[in-house]
Parts: sequence; C-alpha cells; structure tokens
Amino acid sequence: MNWLEGQWHDGRSSRAHAVRLELDGSGGLRILAADGGPERLWPLHEIELGARIGATPRVLRRAGHGQVECPDSPLLAQWFPRPASRVEAMADWLERRRLAILVAALGTALFAFAFLRVGVPWFALRIAERTPEAVEVEVSRQAILLLERTHLRPSELPQARRRELRGRFADLVRGEPRYERMRLRFVQAPALGPNAFALPDGRIYLTDALVKLAGDDEEILAVLAHEAGHHVHRHGIRQAIESSSVLLVVGLLFGDVSGSSLAVALPAVLLSSGYSRGHEREADAHALQLLRSRGIPEQAFASIMRRLSAEIPDGIERGPMGYLSTHPPTPERIEAAERASDRQPRRD
Ligand SMILES: [Zn+2]
Repeated sequence: MNWLEGQWHDGRSSRAHAVRLELDGSGGLRILAADGGPERLWPLHEIELGARIGATPRVLRRAGHGQVECPDSPLLAQWFPRPASRVEAMADWLERRRLAILVAALGTALFAFAFLRVGVPWFALRIAERTPEAVEVEVSRQAILLLERTHLRPSELPQARRRELRGRFADLVRGEPRYERMRLRFVQAPALGPNAFALPDGRIYLTDALVKLAGDDEEILAVLAHEAGHHVHRHGIRQAIESSSVLLVVGLLFGDVSGSSLAVALPAVLLSSGYSRGHEREADAHALQLLRSRGIPEQAFASIMRRLSAEIPDGIERGPMGYLSTHPPTPERIEAAERASDRQPRRD
C-alpha cells in the first residue's frame, strides 16, 4: 500500500473532505477527493509536516491551501525524509510511554509541592527581611482597624496592673532583635478568649482573659516571649507573603491577578491565615530560650499552655493570628517545653 487516507480542510470552512494521498512521480503529493472532486497536487517542499505526538493525527499544511490530517504512517517518513528535532523526538517518546507520563506528572506535582513548601517560604523570608518598616506599619494599621471593628474592646485591667506588666515585658524583651519596636497592648476580646497576638509593626496584644487565666506573671511572660518570637522572626509578614504567593499562583493559573488587589488583600490575609506549624515551633523555641536567658523557668510555658488547652471553651474562634489561631497547644508543644525545663514535669 503506498497511499494514505485523510481529511482535507480548505481552511475556510469547518467541513472536512475525505481524500486519498499518494506520491506523484514529479515530486509532489497528489490529493484525490474521495467524492470525485477536483484533484490537487502539492509540491512536497511547500508542505509543512506537523510533529508526531503519540497517537494524534499527523497534519500536513500548505500555506494558503488548507491542511490535510491523516493517521501516522511509515509512508510519511518516506515522503518527508528529514531529521526529527530532539524536542519532537523526546515528546514523542514520552507520549508513547505511560510510565514516563506518570513519572513526568508525578515530577511536576512534586516540584509544585516543593516550590510551595520550600521555595515560597524561602522567598517570603527574603522579602520580609527587605520589607520597609512603613509597609509593616501600614499593613498592621489596616489589620487592627478590621479587628477593632469586629473583635476588640478597651481593656478593663486596672492601670497599675498594666504598668506592672508593661515593665516586666520591657525587661523581658530588652536587647532582643527589633525589641525597640515591641509594644504591649491590652484589650478585651470575648470572641478570642484567652489570647495574644503580634502585629508585624511590633505591637503585641494581650487579652484580659489571658491575664486572668494565667497562674502568675511568669506564665504571661511565657506567652509574650512566644509572641516576641513571632515579631523577631517576622512571621506575620512572612505568613502573609506565603499565603499571598499561593493566591498569586492560583491567580496566575486562573488568570485573575493584579498587584493592587493583592495589596488590598494583604491585611485580610494577615488576619485570616494564622501561622504555620513551622513558625509556631520557631516562636516556641525562641520563647523557651528567651525565658531561660532571663532566669524564668520554662515550666511556666508548659503551665500556661496546659491551662489554655484545658480552659478554652468549645466553639471559640481560634483566629485571628492568635495564640490559638492554627491549633491549640498540643501535647507535643507542652512536652517540648517540659523537656527544656530543669524542673520535673508537673503531673495534673
Ligand atoms: Zn504563635
């Protein structure tokens, strides 16, 4: 058999015409219409043969004359002897091997996963370190406006008590990186329960409920040391960038992305995303080290965590950005604090 059957499209209408293809002695390709229509002769050098990709039909194109589709055949290689490009050969090789397709798909998924897990946090840290103070201040200002509207009320703690805690907090963080920007704020936030959170500009908020829950001031300092860790390591901005990066990737995939909408979204992202487990571990480690360096027993950290996990009523909001935003104090975190402590773990 030295002919092929195909479909000819004239390039003007969507209608396909059944044709038979065969080589003409004069160095052309004869295209015979199956319905007895006119015969065409295309010079071989004017025909562009489309790449071979798996089992898809081959396409023969001639500028201004439409195209013919036909199944792949060794005849085409005879008619159009030319070296296949490497990329084409590779694509064809991949298409014909299911395992290779599977491996390639898996590789792509792994790469995307690794990019989101490792690449995005890496970039977020670099960007956060270069984020101007003015941006941290503005993002925090907008975030707190959103919060004040919905969650925060003025604290009812006596002024003397606030002064006392501010003094102890100042002693705790003095000399820490970026400590001069850390300021303690007291609020009531019934929806947040006993909670604390840090804003990127250095403000650390403490709810009245947490002050009441704590057994002593050292337990409060343990929570504040953890929040100071979030500030020192710039977790707020990093988390916001990481979450936005995911939004950005999704936006790129679905074609809805603009810088301005991202800027508007940043404070909301900051409030809604919470910290990653990695950030929480880093803040915990920072807190334990800070407490140790100030002569405060690390057991205080385990104690307040245990109180928090025991006394948080069901259904309390775990956000925003709060001590409990991503997860309640886990036994794992309490154990880590007890391991760090010189004292015997207290048994309840
Ligand atoms: Zn935290």
